[in-house]
Amino acid sequence: MELNILTICYLIGSVTFILGLKMLSNPATARKGNLVAAAGMTVAIFGTIFLYEEGGQKLGNYGWIFGGIAIGTIIGFFAAKKVKMTAMPEMVSLFNGMGGACAALISIVEFNHLLGAMGHSFDNINPLEFVNPGVFIIILLGLIIGSVSFAGSVIAWGKLNGSIKDFSFKGQHIFNILLLLVIVSLATYLIGWPPASPAILFYIIFVLSLLYGIFFVFPIGGADMPVVISLLNSFTGVAAACGGFLYNNKVMLTGGILVGAAGTLLTILMCKAMNRSLANVLIGSFGGSTTKSGEKKEQGNYKEITLSDTAVLMSYSARVYIVPGYGLAVAQAQHACHELEKLLESKGVEVKYAIHPVAGRMPGHMNVLLAEADVPYDKLLEMEQANEEFHNTDVVLILGANDVVNPAAKTDPSSPIYGMPILDVELAKNVIVNKRSMKPGYAGIENDLFFQPKTSMLFGDAKKVLQDLIAEIKNL
Ligand code: NDP
Repeated sequence: MELNILTICYLIGSVTFILGLKMLSNPATARKGNLVAAAGMTVAIFGTIFLYEEGGQKLGNYGWIFGGIAIGTIIGFFAAKKVKMTAMPEMVSLFNGMGGACAALISIVEFNHLLGAMGHSFDNINPLEFVNPGVFIIILLGLIIGSVSFAGSVIAWGKLNGSIKDFSFKGQHIFNILLLLVIVSLATYLIGWPPASPAILFYIIFVLSLLYGIFFVFPIGGADMPVVISLLNSFTGVAAACGGFLYNNKVMLTGGILVGAAGTLLTILMCKAMNRSLANVLIGSFGGSTTKSGEKKEQGNYKEITLSDTAVLMSYSARVYIVPGYGLAVAQAQHACHELEKLLESKGVEVKYAIHPVAGRMPGHMNVLLAEADVPYDKLLEMEQANEEFHNTDVVLILGANDVVNPAAKTDPSSPIYGMPILDVELAKNVIVNKRSMKPGYAGIENDLFFQPKTSMLFGDAKKVLQDLIAEIKNL
């Protein structure tokens, strides 16, 4: 009877994961989707703790289990509450690393169970020869993938918060491939021809996998970390699915496969949005400490616009598009931005937002930020839609965005962002760019848009500029 209730708990968990994931794909339902999936996970966890039985025995160890849950909940709650929107990729990376570590630990525990359960009864005979090779393969896969994901995620986290600098040496990619080959060969040997002391080899594989995770992420440019995190996230999913196989636990299997598939799809979509191949991201060192910011080419003059001229221009426009970028997130200007939008709309101006798929530092970064300020979802246009509308737009106000509006992506084959789809803001009648200086953005390159005749620069911190602009418009 109890087993049946547990099966139903797992079914609820699996269904809510799928529903939650589906809801996450739309900003209007994303928050609810997160809660739905979390509720399903809670049902699955408590079902396992209280209903799971093996040989008529319940799990027990409640002190340890609830102690762990309490510590994890407190750390997770405060970390998520405190994190700034710009530091979100860092936190995702760290949490993902924890998932990888769990998967690797499961493999270590289960390997020791195998040795413990079979080792004592067979003197002079290797216990692993009696183990189902399928089970052993899964244990090793979980160990390798989980360790790579853990070590790689920690390095990615360190690179994003600046505590770990980019590091590479000549021939590192070859070294990485060789290291991977050694790991796979040792694992194959351990499964096919288990030696008398398998534990030593098992732990060597564990250490080499951790090293591989470190060396795999080290040479990748700091600015490409979000793609790497997404890839490592898919690794963690696969490692967790291995745990699901081991324990014959359907909900762990479904969850792991969903994470693995979603992470893979997100990785592909991010690469597509930047028009780069995954191989280019993994070996390209794009946006690392060797960015191209030193290679400035002379671009000519730019013109500035005053706050009062901006206020007049925008107030008397029929249609204004706002292009948010990373700088908007840095300045935490989303609320001021929404206030400006409401003020202009009250004056009869139509205001919409043009969202580039990789604006900011994560896909969906801008959507989440604007949702936080209660900007209605129907005001957010995706890049393709916005590009069709710009020619009918009086003013495009660019707030802390740079690369995603750089025409070099279309015109300059030598540019590192050449081929990246961009927002065609130069089709609008007027372009106003707000940023603090003429410094380049993430790709470290100049932006020709700033020097075009219809572009005017409005310098300053996005939040302060927006607040002053709102005051100016109110005084008109
Ligand atoms: P960019 O990084 O290109 O530009 C942001 C601009 O914001 C900067 O030029 C900066 O100029 C300005 N800025 C910074 N702080 C402020 C502030 N407080 N107020 C006003 N402006 C500010 O951002 P975009 O959103 O345009 O482009 C995103 C980039 O990130 C793309 O190149 C994209 O490919 C990349 N990306 C990469 C990912 C990956 O995994 N590799 C994932 C997602 C995005 P200034 O210093 O003069 O103020």
